[in-house]
Amino acid sequence: MTTRNPIERLAEARHEFGEHGGVNMSVEASTTFTVMKPGTMPELFEGRKAAPEGCYLYGRHFNPTVYQLGRQLAAIEGTESAYCAASGMAAISAAILQLCNSGDHVVASNTVYGGSYALLHDFLPTKANINSTFVDITDLAAIEAAITDKTRVIYAESIANPTLRVADIPRLAELAHAHDVRLVIDNTFSPLLLSPASLGADVVVHSMTKFINGASDIIAGAVCGTTEFVQGLMDLHQGPLMMLGPTMDPTIAAKISLRIPHLALRVAEHAQRAETFAERLQELGVPVSYPGLSDHPDFELMQQLRCEDYGFGGILTLDLGTEQRANDLMDVLQNKYGFGFMAVSLGYFDTLMSCPGSSTSSEMTDEDMSSAGIGEGLVRISVGYTGTTEQRWQQLESALLDIAAIKARLPEAV
Ligand SMILES: *Cc1c(COP(=O)(O)O)cnc(C)c1O
Repeated sequence: MTTRNPIERLAEARHEFGEHGGVNMSVEASTTFTVMKPGTMPELFEGRKAAPEGCYLYGRHFNPTVYQLGRQLAAIEGTESAYCAASGMAAISAAILQLCNSGDHVVASNTVYGGSYALLHDFLPTKANINSTFVDITDLAAIEAAITDKTRVIYAESIANPTLRVADIPRLAELAHAHDVRLVIDNTFSPLLLSPASLGADVVVHSMTKFINGASDIIAGAVCGTTEFVQGLMDLHQGPLMMLGPTMDPTIAAKISLRIPHLALRVAEHAQRAETFAERLQELGVPVSYPGLSDHPDFELMQQLRCEDYGFGGILTLDLGTEQRANDLMDVLQNKYGFGFMAVSLGYFDTLMSCPGSSTSSEMTDEDMSSAGIGEGLVRISVGYTGTTEQRWQQLESALLDIAAIKARLPEAV
């Protein structure tokens, strides 16, 4: 039975007993797997038998525990298949290399994670002769104009890091498919909130390091797509995951798997708090950007695309104008009030704050940074869910008063 709801699909995907009847799946730590008959081995190598039929070859190829986590990711994203890798960057680079050969071309959003930008802007042109054109992903005419007969991929983030612009996935998919191009979406910022594959994306990639794992203790990634695509990542001659080898350890897969069941609760709580803060900051006149505010340029689009159970995501940004004031705010928030941590990354249970212009987006050229709208005083806040909402709000308000970004507190909520 196929169901449209990710949570229902996930419940089905997770219904697997451990080896001794354990309520958690067993961890298959072996790096190599026996066959019962010698004739099976050549079949495995020829790709005539594979992981979906329960046939395993070697730990850098499919591993049963990692494969089971992949099934959970496929359930979340509504794709036929998925597999995990050692990091988000491993997942992204494998997806691009699977779709592009030397000489091919990518049309990429001009606002993507700094590492993805560097991969497309610097690494792939030099190492693989795969070149990218960066465009404003909300400008469909510009995207179409950038497509050439070499273009194989349109690459974007569902919610862009750090500008929080939302990709119009259905229209991007339509445009891509009209030109026989694949749409690859990085859904790191919005698991469950947005379902790119059901909106038309061909491949969905994740840094599971962020919301999916949720505890800032594991680096991990996933690629979700058709079974053919995922099997291709492991091809013994041409598969980028098989050849480059950024393998996820099965013990890591088992750990992440234990955090998937409360992903929905966490994502909803992150979003609830981010929305509350965003609304109150706006009331105080602080320049705040959040896709759930009616003045956000993609508010209407977000309303159309999102799953309502998860608000508008757990990330907001404040523009303090200068890097100095951004730093002053983060300093007071961390060191005087204990509101959160000055650290990159996101999706952690505690609040994380960073200044993208001088950190996670600093790989970008000054020109690309300004055309993407990343100001030097921008502070990205990944809103955590520890403490109470009111306690955290008091801390945030106090810090804004301290640096004179606001003149008075909001009247006490009734
Ligand atoms: C962090 C991040 C990545 C990279 O993920 P790693 O797990 O650190 O390799 C990619 N895309 C986005 C949107 C990210 O936030």
